[in-house]
Amino acid sequence: MKSLVTFESVTTLSQLMIPKRVPNDGIVSYADQYTHINAIIDAIHEPVLILNNDLTIQSANKVFLKKFKMTKDKASGRNLADLTDRSSQMEYLIKKLRKLSRNNSSFEELELTYRFRRAGEKTLLINAKRIAYGNKNSDIIFLSIQDITQRRLIERQKDDFVGYITHELKTPITSSSVFIQLLQGYHEKTGDKKSQFLLTKVAGELERLTKLLNSFTHVYKAQTGMLELQKETIDLYELVRETVEMFQYTTTTHTISIEGTLTKPLFADKERVRQVIINLLINAIKYSPNSDTIVVKLQEETKKVIVSVRDFGPGIPKEAQTKIFERFFRIRSGQSYSAKGLGLGLYISTEIIKAHKGKLRVESSEGKGSTFSFSLPLKM
Ligand code: ADP
Repeated sequence: MKSLVTFESVTTLSQLMIPKRVPNDGIVSYADQYTHINAIIDAIHEPVLILNNDLTIQSANKVFLKKFKMTKDKASGRNLADLTDRSSQMEYLIKKLRKLSRNNSSFEELELTYRFRRAGEKTLLINAKRIAYGNKNSDIIFLSIQDITQRRLIERQKDDFVGYITHELKTPITSSSVFIQLLQGYHEKTGDKKSQFLLTKVAGELERLTKLLNSFTHVYKAQTGMLELQKETIDLYELVRETVEMFQYTTTTHTISIEGTLTKPLFADKERVRQVIINLLINAIKYSPNSDTIVVKLQEETKKVIVSVRDFGPGIPKEAQTKIFERFFRIRSGQSYSAKGLGLGLYISTEIIKAHKGKLRVESSEGKGSTFSFSLPLKM
């Protein structure tokens, strides 16, 4: 559930407070202000903490106290750093909170898992915003916490289920393919053209099914941290060149050119990296039906290489640019999608690049096209 007060909307402490009748001297006391803040955060349906500049808890709302099984006395005045254990994830949170500079800096959706003494292990999504208020020491930090333990559990069960189904379907599909090949051989001999034609269709559909299952397997592996890499020394330039050449044979609509070169060898999983290049090229072709050019650019820096695929299609709206990397996310135009797909290609590609300690990103402006680029560190 989303917080009632959105982070973007809060920039100063006064915005958090209900306008109050100001006494004659024009000064609103701190006590009044804290009462207001407490009233507001108590009305929020998510756990919320207000921290002082030094991370001591100034207020905890009712939902926080209930969810994490704490009393007001136990929480108030305690330093968040003392309240938590020294797990690396909590250390990271504390470090990030301490780093929040003035000028209303913030972070959003920091996910961490924490074992509470009384409430057990929880997966939390944390948003934080530092709110400038008077002098530096009076700044406060607004911390909203979303408990996503249940959501993550359901996702894991779903992933396990998909993993199981995919695994179980693979065996009968593989044996069906073998039987079809035998039948194809048989009908080549009998000369039955109609059967040969139908068997080719069945073989094509089985191949499609195998590809789908492979996508699901990749997603499952990525989700469960089982994406194993088989790294070797590879010539990335050669890999890009042969993949582009293969695509150039299959597309009649686009011309794909390569700019730049790479000279240093890379230690990476060749087939997985190929898969990423293929996914980006497929998308570039699929989502730019009214243009005819794709440019693959290669850059070598001291510590990394960058491969980018640029198309001149309709581009991607700003608000969708982070979402397209999520599982099953696809951009609709009206009621339909502009091309066939599952919304998995970019997700799988991101996971593959992440597993190599690289980054996959997009730059796009509507009407001008998109550039997807991935970087891979030279020493891995
Ligand atoms: P799929 O292509 O199967 O839908 P992807 O994960 O590869 O899945 O892409 C997710 C979504 O991102 C696509 O459905 C499309 O809306 C958008 N997208 C990806 N690449 C491009 C591109 N080059 N230009 C415009 N939109 C793109």
